[in-house]
Amino acid sequence: MILLDYLINLSMFSLMVSTPLIIRSYLNLKPLKHLWIWTGLYAGGVSSVLVSLSFQDQGYTYDIRYAVIILVFAYLGPGAGMITGSIALLSRLMVSDNWFPAIIGWLVVMTVLVVIQKFTVHFQPVKRYLILLGSYVVTYIITVPIVLNVIRDNPVFHLQYLLFISIGVFLGGIMIESYEKLYRIIKERKRMEQTLDESESKYRLIAENTSDLIMVMDKEHAVSYLSPSHEVVLGYSVLELEKIDLCKLIHPDDVVYFRETISEIAKSKESKPVEFRFQHLTGKWIEFESRWMPVMNDDQLIEHIVIISRDISERKKAEEILLQSEKLSIVGELAAGVAHEIRNPLTTIKGFVQLYGKENESNEIHELLLSELERIETITSEMLSLGKPQAIQLNRANLCDLMDHTVEFLSPQANMKNIQFSRSYLGTDFFIVCEKNQIKQLFLNVFKNAMEAMPKGGNIDIKLKKGIDGECIISIQDEGCGIPEELLPRLGEPFYTLKEKGTGLGLMICHKIIKQHNGTISYHSKLNNGTLVEIKLPLAN
Ligand code: ADP
Ligand code: MG
Repeated sequence: MILLDYLINLSMFSLMVSTPLIIRSYLNLKPLKHLWIWTGLYAGGVSSVLVSLSFQDQGYTYDIRYAVIILVFAYLGPGAGMITGSIALLSRLMVSDNWFPAIIGWLVVMTVLVVIQKFTVHFQPVKRYLILLGSYVVTYIITVPIVLNVIRDNPVFHLQYLLFISIGVFLGGIMIESYEKLYRIIKERKRMEQTLDESESKYRLIAENTSDLIMVMDKEHAVSYLSPSHEVVLGYSVLELEKIDLCKLIHPDDVVYFRETISEIAKSKESKPVEFRFQHLTGKWIEFESRWMPVMNDDQLIEHIVIISRDISERKKAEEILLQSEKLSIVGELAAGVAHEIRNPLTTIKGFVQLYGKENESNEIHELLLSELERIETITSEMLSLGKPQAIQLNRANLCDLMDHTVEFLSPQANMKNIQFSRSYLGTDFFIVCEKNQIKQLFLNVFKNAMEAMPKGGNIDIKLKKGIDGECIISIQDEGCGIPEELLPRLGEPFYTLKEKGTGLGLMICHKIIKQHNGTISYHSKLNNGTLVEIKLPLAN
């Protein structure tokens, strides 16, 4: 049953070659120090087992220990090869008395293997073991049948033996190569998984720590990812947002445009910027600028859409202010033109009034007319100053006088509208350093607003008192329609008006005048409950 012996030998051999390889592919062990010694010893053990499994045929006792030795030379180098070879020889000598041919054969083969190994160091392992096997076969043929002259009746035996060894080498070589390949694949996959993990955590870090909103949609427009920044910017939790139909939170005026842009992107497959308003949890509208980027698969079909949005409310506001100030500078220019046109006829009128005054000295009307004409002149120059800053001429003046003048000036108009002024001054000297006409203008604007707020008439209550920080507090309380609380912060913005024929410049001019006089203005009001305007101006010491 020689075939059975072959099979047992080869199976045993395969098992012992594959065991360490399998262990290595499962366990990520550190490479051993002096690996060649340990592997040489292990391979020596394997060859001893194979020697113990040797069998008899045609008067010879033989085994496949040389297959192990050739592979060790090819894969682990001459050091390990010598260790394996020596153990194999010892085992061989222990089981057989025929020492002479075994030792001679061993010496010759080992010398050849060491020499050939040296010459094939830079070859690939497969090529190396094939060359080593070839050299072994040639050495065997030269040494055993020719030099030792051990040709028996049947030379087929030698062929059979060499075939046996070759099969062993091939089998071992294929196993080693396959496991190597497997090991490399596993290692590569582990490396790729690690790189993937690293890059994913890197992108996650970016996505989760940006103030921009990052959203990923699949081809059916279902949301597959929302960055946590959505929670901060929109107020909703990511879980809530995933459940809501996002179109419902888009401003009704923007929905159509929004949908059109999406279908355009789906058609053209090109990235596009979209601007829209989205409702915050608290109800306020936030303006967004977003870029939609379709991500294509290999068949050029949209697989995902990546949407990156940014809150541009602040920017929009700044743009609006810029626009307003541009408008304002145009108005300034216009005002300059109008002022110029008004001044010429005004000079003529003034001249005639002065002439009239000289002729009718007893009549005091001309003085009043003259002072009012001067005011018109000043207002026109104030209009001029809207666009450009102007140096002002400061004088000491009593606020009581300025207030009285303004009230008197407005009295005829107020009477007609059934409006009364009531004044209470807590003190008499409220001197400030100011540009008188500007302060009158300030009061005039505030009174005009108060009067316009009381179409059915009423009382305007004026108070003057000293504050604790050496300032004068001027309170003007009306009984008008009042101002909704949420609109109070907007007062003083250029062109902000709720009146049909308003200009929205009155309070803006007031704010400018107060700023020039280092004062402050504040409003207290409730709808339908009258308005209290409080102006604080520093008193002159
Ligand atoms: P305009 O009077 O031309 O509208 P203003 O700058 O003077 O512009 O005033 C801006 C807006 O502030 C007004 O349109 C009005 O709605 C509101 N406002 C100002 N003062 C009062 C007030 N005393 N009572 C009610 N509303 C006021
Ligand atoms: Mg006004």
